[in-house]
Amino acid sequence: MNDAVPPSVARKPDLILVGGAARPLVDAFQRRITYLRLSVTDRCDLRCSYCMPERMTFLPKKEVLSLEELYDLATGFIARGVNKIRITGGEPLVRRDIIDLFGALGRRLGHDLEELTLTTNGTQLATHAEALARAGVRRVNVSLDTLDRERFAELTRRDSLPQVLEGIAAAKAAGLKVKLNAVALKGVNEHELADLIAWGHAEGHDVTLIEVMPLGDVEEERLDQYLPLDSVRAQLAARWTLTDSDHRTGGPSTYVDVAETGGRLGFIAPHTGNFCSGCNRLRVTATGQLYPCLGGGERVDLRAALRSDAPEANLAAALDEALRIKPEKHHFRMDQRGAAPALARHMSMTGG
Ligand code: SAM
Ligand code: SF4
Repeated sequence: MNDAVPPSVARKPDLILVGGAARPLVDAFQRRITYLRLSVTDRCDLRCSYCMPERMTFLPKKEVLSLEELYDLATGFIARGVNKIRITGGEPLVRRDIIDLFGALGRRLGHDLEELTLTTNGTQLATHAEALARAGVRRVNVSLDTLDRERFAELTRRDSLPQVLEGIAAAKAAGLKVKLNAVALKGVNEHELADLIAWGHAEGHDVTLIEVMPLGDVEEERLDQYLPLDSVRAQLAARWTLTDSDHRTGGPSTYVDVAETGGRLGFIAPHTGNFCSGCNRLRVTATGQLYPCLGGGERVDLRAALRSDAPEANLAAALDEALRIKPEKHHFRMDQRGAAPALARHMSMTGG
């Protein structure tokens, strides 16, 4: 299936078997970690106003892990029982040769990896959808907050809606299952959400709504952006018949089925519906910094371990440390006007 993809990235398969499969990743609250979100770049071709400022400072490229290092890290996590990897960013598809990493990881599918997926803004998806499908990717999350071209241009500070829609269509044509993710934003897409959901469902895509999180300085007042999803859900319930679904994808979404559209709708609601007790995830940035919690400052440096004289032992120790410090829950607050961001780092570092 993956024969068309060059194996260059997987230069030393199974180089790092961190601790062996016998030692699964279990944190201090007995949560088993099986899901890695791996950011491959902090760069992006959009500037979503809730994610980053227009004049975003990106990391020097030399600080970012090479594709080989990313593969070695992923291998280390797989050896400790991670069976699902989501590639994210920044925008993962702006990284040159990123398809080689998908190809290399895709070779593990059906062996020690169950699922390889990505989150993308969709601008480059038309170019890469077929290669992703060839690499074994079956599902992609595409972020789409509005179907209105002007609003899109204002929100992302780039006039790229046509490319994104083309990308979504290409993904569907390549046989990828698309889930649309929309951040619910007060006074921005608030009154369009039902239309966005109806469109997505008519196209055969699941749709998930996300509450904005106070990560990084973004020039705007966070509280002005924040739209609680419990109120959105109540509004949608006045229009449609919503039935709780036990569907799960391994992420933090809870789902409802919408009778009138025949589609599935997810809610990622860190503020109005805390999901931390079921957390099965770890996040690694493109510089190899492991953040055990999206909403916490705790951090472990995997790059230093990876580049040390004893990468195997040091990575094992670093992963154990991450499990030890993974907090029970996030401490985001969305009730203080003018407050500094809960965390200085932007969502584009850890990839959502
Ligand atoms: N660039 C890709 C994309 O947009 O899909 C992947 C990275 S992006 C950081 C991942 C997800 O995080 C996107 O769905 C985006 O809408 C969401 N996101 C970014 N900043 C956020 C914030 N402050 N609060 C909530 N979601 C955010
Ligand atoms: Fe880029 Fe994704 Fe952040 Fe938008 S949300 S600026 S597309 S990283």
